[in-house]
Parts: sequence; structure tokens; C-alpha cells
Amino acid sequence: MTKQRLLAARSIMESANAEALLVTGLINIRYLSGFTGSDALLYLDSGGQWLFCDSRYKTQATLESPDFEITEYRLKIDGISAFISARGVKRVAFDSEKTSCSLFNTLSASLPGVELIPFAGELDELRSVKSSAEIEAVAASCALASASFNQILEFIRPGISERELALELEIILRRAGADGKAFEFIVASGERGALPHGAATGKILKKGELVTIDFGIRCNGYHSDETVTVAIGYADERQREIYALVKEAHDLALNAVKPGISCCELDAIAREVIAREGFGDYFGHGLGHGVGLEIHEKPTISSRSEMKVCEGMIFTIEPGVYIPGWGGVRIEDTVVVTAESCRLLTQVSKELIVTV
Ligand code: ZN
Ligand code: ZN
Repeated sequence: MTKQRLLAARSIMESANAEALLVTGLINIRYLSGFTGSDALLYLDSGGQWLFCDSRYKTQATLESPDFEITEYRLKIDGISAFISARGVKRVAFDSEKTSCSLFNTLSASLPGVELIPFAGELDELRSVKSSAEIEAVAASCALASASFNQILEFIRPGISERELALELEIILRRAGADGKAFEFIVASGERGALPHGAATGKILKKGELVTIDFGIRCNGYHSDETVTVAIGYADERQREIYALVKEAHDLALNAVKPGISCCELDAIAREVIAREGFGDYFGHGLGHGVGLEIHEKPTISSRSEMKVCEGMIFTIEPGVYIPGWGGVRIEDTVVVTAESCRLLTQVSKELIVTV
């Protein structure tokens, strides 16, 4: 797997017309080398590939990145600059989306005569199509999160706060084996449901409210993402109608997923359903996003994304309707694209759940 990824990285280097590639973003470093530590640089050219780290990570890097030569530095910039100078390369491609402005300025100043050529997004694009081991890892995260959610259903009742609900869910997920949360869980009840990213507050859940719960975990570096909107005690007619509309948009988009369709077409399928009933202005965000080593990664499923869907991609389908002063509904699943359609990785039922 590493060899295939290194080949792809070298072709990015060649497309940039460079003699070497410098990777500064930790997620892409992990993807190419297997290294999971929190500080490193990755360099490759036609003669080999090197992982640079400080003494804290030397042993770990040796174990995790057997295809790389591990080089220890005392001072990061001095270490990599001296190395690049010694290699004699004159054109070095670097990931401009992941390299800070100050790192770029310092590198430029310490490498006179070396041209630093920006490339952007190509490594992230490479990551959008998952290997079978990666699909298994995301599937495991999703399965664990969904199973834990089903355990918390009995805890969702009038009188508890959004924050208590978020905490309880986190405890169940951590006990079940999650390495950590993928993000601060969103628990938005009643009118707060109109906030697509409403973090849990002290607000108390009341009978007759909808509560949107968006949760995700990380296991072995790979994430899950799922949103369930639950009715507390009962749901009135309008709540049921809007829920059914969002579900129709979700189901139609989900059924349309197949290799070759473009991301913007998928977005349009869901958006048209919601616009048809006059709620187009209340669905402001894109339909979905890739999930993998990062909780939000490529592909972006939005009206502006021309990217084509490919077998092996993993992304979310998450339409929503958010009405100020009323509340909101979002339904989110994570899917993996198969040869002909897609398979659900998240497993909580998306029929409207009404708690007792
Ligand atoms: Zn989510
Ligand atoms: Zn999401």
C-alpha cells in the first residue's frame, strides 16, 4: 500500500515539474508513511524517501514507517534545510494548503537558490478513494458509534439537558472503545434545532420537541459521522411533514449514489426535493463531505463540486431544513461507494424515532 501511495506522490511531484516533494501536513504524512506522531516532515525525491522527526519520535517512526529512512533533527528548519541543500535539488514542491506562511518564509530564507513550488489538494484528492483496509476502519467506527447510539435512546427524555445527553453519549462511546470524539457533538433541541452546528448547551429537553444529535468518533485514526433527529414524546403534523421531506431528500440522494455521477448532481437531487416544498432557503449547507483520516475531507458534495464519484469513496449524505424560530431536522448517513451504488456504513434507523 505504501509503495502505491509513494508512486502517486511522485507523480504529483512530476506534475509540479519538481525534483522533490516536501509534505508538512500530519494527516498526509500519516497517509504516505504510516507515522502517527504529532510532529514530523516528509521528504521524497527520485533517490528515496525520508521522514524527519525529533528524538521523541525516533523509535515510533522506525516502527511505523519501515519504507522510510528516519532522520532525526534537533531544530526542524535547520535540519530539513541542510538536508535539502545537501541533496542538491533546485525545485521542491510543497503542499501550500498545509504549510503555514511562517514555515514557508523561513524555509525560503534558509534555502537560497531553491525554488519552492506550491501544489494544493492533490494529496487530499488521493485520499478520497479508500483502500479496503481504510473502508474497514471507517466501517468499524461507524458500526461502533451507531450501536452506542441505540443504547442512549432510553436516556433521551424530557427534563435532561442537551449537555447531559452529549456527555452520556460520549461516555457510552468511549466505554464501547472509541479512541475519542470526532468533533464536539451537536445536540440542538426545540428552536435551537435551527442552528445547523448548535453545540450542546444547558437547555432542557421538552416533550414535543425535536432534537438533532450529530455525533462522530475516531478509532485507529478513522472517523464516523451520523446525525439522528429524534422527537421527544410525540411529533406534531408539521414536524412529521418536515421530517418526511428531509428523509425523502436523503433517500433519493442515497439511491442515486454510483460511480460516475458528479458530486454537484447528488447535491442537486436532494436540494430539488427540499426546494419543491418551498424550503430551499432553509437548506444552506452542502449535502455532504468525505470521511476518513479527517472528519471533513474530499470529496465535497456541494453545488460547486464537479468531482466525479468513484468506487471506494466514503462520504456523508446529510440534508437538513433549519427554520429560525421553529427548529430543524437533519438526517445524516455515511456511505461507501460500491461498483454499482453505495453501502450504508452508519446504521441507526432513519425512520422518525419518537421517544416514550
Ligand atoms: Zn455529522
Ligand atoms: Zn457530516
